Amino acid sequence: MSQATITLTQPSSAPNFCFEVVASNGQSDFIQSDWDYPSTASLFGFVPCDCGSTDGTVDCKHKTATQMISAAYDYLVDHVGETVDDCR
Ligand SMILES: [Zn+2]
Repeated sequence: MSQATITLTQPSSAPNFCFEVVASNGQSDFIQSDWDYPSTASLFGFVPCDCGSTDGTVDCKHKTATQMISAAYDYLVDHVGETVDDCR
């Protein structure tokens, strides 16, 4: 069984807020929209809210989407360079 992995990178040629997710098969996805941050961060273990009723792009009872997107961005910045199993 082959195991796919993905690595979070921040391309040096791209603006600060842009991330790239590179899969072990060579495929890469650019993440440059605010709305993509929570789902991308989730791949690397980010949990938008402990209640589990939001994917980070919609408000839940505890946090606004804006707060979670901001948290997801910070999470991505902290995890640049990490490789995890690709469970997409
Ligand atoms: Zn919540």
